Amino acid sequence: VLSIAGLDPSGGAGLSADLRSIHAAGAWGCAVCACLTVQSTAGLVAVHPVEPSLVLAQAREVMTQERVLVVKTGALATVDNVHAVLRILRQHRPPQVVVDPVMVATRAASGARLLDGQARDSMLELVAEATIVTPNTNEAEQLLDSRIRDQKDLREAARQLVARGARAALIKGGHLDTPRAVDMLAVGHEVVPLYARKLDLAPFHGGGCVLASLIAGRMALQPGMVSGAGIEQAVRWAKRRLGRSLRQATRVGEGLLVLPV
Ligand code: PLP
Repeated sequence: VLSIAGLDPSGGAGLSADLRSIHAAGAWGCAVCACLTVQSTAGLVAVHPVEPSLVLAQAREVMTQERVLVVKTGALATVDNVHAVLRILRQHRPPQVVVDPVMVATRAASGARLLDGQARDSMLELVAEATIVTPNTNEAEQLLDSRIRDQKDLREAARQLVARGARAALIKGGHLDTPRAVDMLAVGHEVVPLYARKLDLAPFHGGGCVLASLIAGRMALQPGMVSGAGIEQAVRWAKRRLGRSLRQATRVGEGLLVLPV
Protein backbone atom coordinates (compact mmCIF):
# COMPACT_ATOMS: atom_id res chain seq x y z
CA VAL A 1 0.00 0.00 0.00
CA LEU A 2 1.37 3.40 -0.93
CA SER A 3 0.22 6.25 1.31
CA ILE A 4 0.58 9.77 -0.10
CA ALA A 5 -0.07 12.06 2.86
CA GLY A 6 1.39 14.51 5.35
CA LEU A 7 4.02 14.05 8.04
CA ASP A 8 2.75 14.65 11.58
CA PRO A 9 5.80 14.73 13.87
CA SER A 10 3.66 13.78 16.89
CA GLY A 11 2.92 10.41 15.25
CA GLY A 12 -0.81 10.64 15.92
CA ALA A 13 -1.93 11.23 12.32
CA GLY A 14 -0.53 11.34 8.79
CA LEU A 15 2.12 9.04 7.34
CA SER A 16 3.35 7.42 10.55
CA ALA A 17 -0.21 6.58 11.65
CA ASP A 18 -0.87 5.28 8.13
CA LEU A 19 2.16 2.97 8.12
CA ARG A 20 1.30 1.66 11.59
CA SER A 21 -2.26 0.90 10.47
CA ILE A 22 -1.29 -0.64 7.12
CA HIS A 23 1.12 -2.96 8.93
CA ALA A 24 -1.55 -3.78 11.55
CA ALA A 25 -3.82 -4.87 8.67
CA GLY A 26 -1.14 -7.29 7.49
CA ALA A 27 0.13 -5.36 4.45
CA TRP A 28 3.39 -3.56 3.68
CA GLY A 29 3.27 0.24 3.69
CA CYS A 30 5.23 2.74 1.56
CA ALA A 31 5.06 6.47 2.27
CA VAL A 32 5.27 9.52 -0.01
CA CYS A 33 5.29 12.84 1.78
CA ALA A 34 2.99 15.53 0.32
CA CYS A 35 3.36 18.04 3.18
CA LEU A 36 5.27 18.60 6.38
CA THR A 37 3.33 19.81 9.39
CA VAL A 38 4.32 21.55 12.59
CA GLN A 39 2.23 19.98 15.35
CA SER A 40 2.04 18.10 18.61
CA THR A 41 -0.77 16.24 20.34
CA ALA A 42 -2.05 19.71 21.37
CA GLY A 43 -2.86 20.65 17.79
CA LEU A 44 -1.77 21.60 14.28
CA VAL A 45 0.32 24.80 14.03
CA ALA A 46 1.46 25.00 10.38
CA VAL A 47 1.45 23.11 7.07
CA HIS A 48 4.29 23.25 4.52
CA PRO A 49 3.52 21.63 1.16
CA VAL A 50 6.13 19.50 -0.59
CA GLU A 51 6.78 20.58 -4.22
CA PRO A 52 4.44 18.69 -6.60
CA SER A 53 7.44 17.65 -8.73
CA LEU A 54 8.95 15.96 -5.67
CA VAL A 55 5.64 14.28 -4.78
CA LEU A 56 5.54 12.96 -8.36
CA ALA A 57 9.17 11.81 -8.29
CA GLN A 58 8.78 10.00 -4.95
CA ALA A 59 5.59 8.24 -6.03
CA ARG A 60 6.86 7.33 -9.51
CA GLU A 61 9.95 5.69 -8.10
CA VAL A 62 7.93 3.52 -5.72
CA MET A 63 5.16 2.77 -8.24
CA THR A 64 7.69 1.74 -10.88
CA GLN A 65 9.76 -0.52 -8.64
CA GLU A 66 7.20 -2.03 -6.25
CA ARG A 67 3.93 -3.87 -6.87
CA VAL A 68 1.57 -1.30 -5.37
CA LEU A 69 -1.92 -2.77 -4.97
CA VAL A 70 -3.55 0.16 -3.19
CA VAL A 71 -2.82 3.89 -3.21
CA LYS A 72 -4.18 5.71 -0.16
CA THR A 73 -4.24 9.52 -0.07
CA GLY A 74 -4.42 11.82 2.97
CA ALA A 75 -3.40 15.45 3.49
CA LEU A 76 -2.21 16.77 0.11
CA ALA A 77 -2.16 20.48 1.04
CA THR A 78 -2.38 22.08 -2.42
CA VAL A 79 -4.34 21.92 -5.67
CA ASP A 80 -1.05 21.15 -7.49
CA ASN A 81 -0.41 18.15 -5.25
CA VAL A 82 -3.92 16.82 -5.92
CA HIS A 83 -3.10 17.15 -9.64
CA ALA A 84 0.21 15.34 -9.10
CA VAL A 85 -1.66 12.44 -7.47
CA LEU A 86 -4.17 12.37 -10.34
CA ARG A 87 -1.27 12.10 -12.81
CA ILE A 88 0.25 9.22 -10.85
CA LEU A 89 -3.07 7.35 -10.70
CA ARG A 90 -3.77 7.84 -14.40
CA GLN A 91 -0.29 6.75 -15.36
CA HIS A 92 0.06 3.69 -13.10
CA ARG A 93 -3.58 2.62 -12.63
CA PRO A 94 -3.28 0.89 -9.22
CA PRO A 95 -6.07 -1.70 -8.69
CA GLN A 96 -7.54 0.14 -5.65
CA VAL A 97 -7.52 3.75 -4.49
CA VAL A 98 -8.57 4.90 -1.01
CA VAL A 99 -9.14 8.67 -0.86
CA ASP A 100 -9.32 10.27 2.58
CA PRO A 101 -10.18 13.86 1.58
CA VAL A 102 -8.44 15.45 4.58
CA MET A 103 -9.12 19.20 4.72
CA VAL A 104 -8.97 20.60 8.24
CA ALA A 105 -7.24 18.96 11.22
CA THR A 106 -9.41 17.60 14.03
CA ARG A 107 -7.19 19.55 16.45
CA ALA A 108 -6.27 22.77 14.65
CA ALA A 109 -4.45 25.12 16.99
CA SER A 110 -4.30 27.70 14.17
CA GLY A 111 -6.04 28.53 10.90
CA ALA A 112 -3.67 26.13 9.08
CA ARG A 113 -5.44 23.92 6.56
CA LEU A 114 -4.38 20.48 5.37
CA LEU A 115 -5.94 21.25 1.97
CA ASP A 116 -6.15 24.59 0.19
CA GLY A 117 -9.71 25.96 0.31
CA GLN A 118 -9.59 26.26 -3.52
CA ALA A 119 -9.01 22.52 -4.01
CA ARG A 120 -12.65 21.37 -4.01
CA ASP A 121 -12.94 20.77 -7.77
CA SER A 122 -9.65 18.90 -8.05
CA MET A 123 -10.52 16.83 -4.96
CA LEU A 124 -13.79 15.88 -6.70
CA GLU A 125 -11.69 14.66 -9.64
CA LEU A 126 -9.77 12.49 -7.20
CA VAL A 127 -13.06 11.21 -5.71
CA ALA A 128 -13.99 10.03 -9.22
CA GLU A 129 -10.87 7.81 -9.23
CA ALA A 130 -11.58 6.30 -5.80
CA THR A 131 -12.46 2.72 -4.95
CA ILE A 132 -13.63 4.29 -1.69
CA VAL A 133 -13.71 7.86 -0.38
CA THR A 134 -13.84 8.37 3.39
CA PRO A 135 -14.86 11.94 4.36
CA ASN A 136 -16.19 13.03 7.73
CA THR A 137 -19.43 15.02 7.65
CA ASN A 138 -17.62 18.33 7.42
CA GLU A 139 -15.50 17.20 4.46
CA ALA A 140 -18.56 15.70 2.70
CA GLU A 141 -20.39 19.01 3.17
CA GLN A 142 -17.51 20.92 1.61
CA LEU A 143 -17.18 18.49 -1.29
CA LEU A 144 -20.89 18.46 -2.08
CA ASP A 145 -21.70 22.03 -1.01
CA SER A 146 -24.58 20.75 1.13
CA ARG A 147 -25.56 20.46 4.80
CA ILE A 148 -25.60 17.15 6.69
CA ARG A 149 -27.79 17.27 9.81
CA ASP A 150 -29.16 13.78 10.20
CA GLN A 151 -29.04 10.22 8.97
CA LYS A 152 -31.19 10.99 5.93
CA ASP A 153 -28.71 13.70 4.78
CA LEU A 154 -25.84 11.30 5.44
CA ARG A 155 -27.45 8.68 3.20
CA GLU A 156 -28.04 11.22 0.42
CA ALA A 157 -24.45 12.54 0.62
CA ALA A 158 -23.00 9.00 0.41
CA ARG A 159 -25.15 8.40 -2.68
CA GLN A 160 -23.97 11.65 -4.24
CA LEU A 161 -20.29 10.80 -3.76
CA VAL A 162 -20.90 7.52 -5.60
CA ALA A 163 -22.74 9.47 -8.32
CA ARG A 164 -19.54 11.56 -8.60
CA GLY A 165 -17.67 8.42 -9.67
CA ALA A 166 -16.36 6.78 -6.48
CA ARG A 167 -17.16 3.05 -6.34
CA ALA A 168 -17.91 3.42 -2.63
CA ALA A 169 -18.26 6.21 -0.08
CA LEU A 170 -17.98 5.97 3.71
CA ILE A 171 -19.15 9.11 5.48
CA LYS A 172 -18.17 9.23 9.13
CA GLY A 173 -21.07 10.65 11.10
CA GLY A 174 -19.61 10.26 14.60
CA HIS A 175 -20.04 13.96 15.38
CA LEU A 176 -23.76 14.07 14.47
CA ASP A 177 -26.30 14.39 17.26
CA THR A 178 -27.52 10.77 17.10
CA PRO A 179 -27.84 8.30 20.05
CA ARG A 180 -25.34 5.90 18.45
CA ALA A 181 -22.42 6.80 16.19
CA VAL A 182 -23.50 6.22 12.61
CA ASP A 183 -21.31 5.97 9.51
CA MET A 184 -23.01 5.65 6.13
CA LEU A 185 -21.51 3.28 3.57
CA ALA A 186 -22.60 3.43 -0.07
CA VAL A 187 -21.27 0.74 -2.40
CA GLY A 188 -22.71 1.15 -5.88
CA HIS A 189 -26.48 1.48 -5.42
CA GLU A 190 -26.51 -0.10 -1.93
CA VAL A 191 -26.41 2.21 1.10
CA VAL A 192 -26.00 0.74 4.60
CA PRO A 193 -25.74 2.50 7.95
CA LEU A 194 -22.98 1.16 10.21
CA TYR A 195 -23.68 1.77 13.90
CA ALA A 196 -21.30 1.84 16.82
CA ARG A 197 -21.47 2.81 20.48
CA LYS A 198 -20.36 6.41 21.09
CA LEU A 199 -17.11 6.47 23.08
CA ASP A 200 -16.45 9.18 25.63
CA LEU A 201 -12.81 9.97 24.79
CA ALA A 202 -10.37 12.75 25.51
CA PRO A 203 -9.62 14.86 22.41
CA PHE A 204 -7.41 13.08 19.90
CA HIS A 205 -6.41 13.26 16.26
CA GLY A 206 -5.57 10.76 13.57
CA GLY A 207 -8.68 8.58 13.81
CA GLY A 208 -9.56 9.25 10.16
CA CYS A 209 -6.04 8.39 8.97
CA VAL A 210 -6.07 5.12 10.92
CA LEU A 211 -9.48 4.07 9.59
CA ALA A 212 -8.68 4.81 5.92
CA SER A 213 -5.30 3.06 6.19
CA LEU A 214 -6.78 -0.02 7.88
CA ILE A 215 -9.27 -0.21 4.98
CA ALA A 216 -6.44 0.22 2.45
CA GLY A 217 -4.30 -2.44 4.16
CA ARG A 218 -7.19 -4.89 4.27
CA MET A 219 -7.99 -4.30 0.59
CA ALA A 220 -4.38 -5.08 -0.33
CA LEU A 221 -4.89 -8.61 1.02
CA GLN A 222 -7.66 -9.23 -1.53
CA PRO A 223 -6.28 -10.23 -4.92
CA GLY A 224 -7.31 -8.37 -8.08
CA MET A 225 -10.13 -5.87 -8.22
CA VAL A 226 -11.95 -5.87 -4.88
CA SER A 227 -15.68 -6.73 -5.06
CA GLY A 228 -18.48 -4.65 -3.52
CA ALA A 229 -18.80 -7.26 -0.77
CA GLY A 230 -15.01 -7.10 -0.31
CA ILE A 231 -15.17 -3.32 0.18
CA GLU A 232 -17.89 -3.70 2.83
CA GLN A 233 -15.92 -6.43 4.62
CA ALA A 234 -12.78 -4.28 4.66
CA VAL A 235 -14.75 -1.33 6.10
CA ARG A 236 -16.45 -3.42 8.79
CA TRP A 237 -13.12 -5.00 9.77
CA ALA A 238 -11.38 -1.59 9.91
CA LYS A 239 -14.15 -0.10 12.06
CA ARG A 240 -13.92 -2.97 14.55
CA ARG A 241 -10.15 -2.62 14.68
CA LEU A 242 -10.32 1.16 15.14
CA GLY A 243 -12.93 0.75 17.89
CA ARG A 244 -10.68 -1.69 19.73
CA SER A 245 -7.68 0.57 19.29
CA LEU A 246 -9.59 3.62 20.57
CA ARG A 247 -10.72 1.73 23.66
CA GLN A 248 -7.07 0.90 24.35
CA ALA A 249 -5.64 4.29 23.36
CA THR A 250 -2.90 5.78 25.47
CA ARG A 251 -2.82 9.37 26.60
CA VAL A 252 0.28 11.18 25.36
CA GLY A 253 0.69 14.86 26.15
CA GLU A 254 -2.60 16.70 25.61
CA GLY A 255 -4.03 14.17 23.18
CA LEU A 256 -4.77 10.50 22.94
CA LEU A 257 -2.48 8.65 20.62
CA VAL A 258 -4.42 6.00 18.78
CA LEU A 259 -2.59 2.70 18.71
CA PRO A 260 -3.93 0.11 16.30
CA VAL A 261 -3.49 -3.31 17.88
N1 PLP B 1 -2.95 14.21 8.07
C1 PLP B 1 -2.09 14.97 8.78
C2 PLP B 1 -0.68 15.14 8.30
C3 PLP B 1 -2.50 15.58 9.93
O1 PLP B 1 -1.64 16.31 10.60
C4 PLP B 1 -3.86 15.41 10.37
C5 PLP B 1 -4.34 16.03 11.59
O2 PLP B 1 -3.74 16.75 12.26
C6 PLP B 1 -4.72 14.63 9.61
C7 PLP B 1 -4.21 14.05 8.48
C8 PLP B 1 -6.15 14.39 9.95
O3 PLP B 1 -6.35 13.90 11.20
P1 PLP B 1 -7.78 13.30 11.60
O4 PLP B 1 -7.74 11.85 11.20
O5 PLP B 1 -7.85 13.48 13.06
O6 PLP B 1 -8.81 14.07 10.87
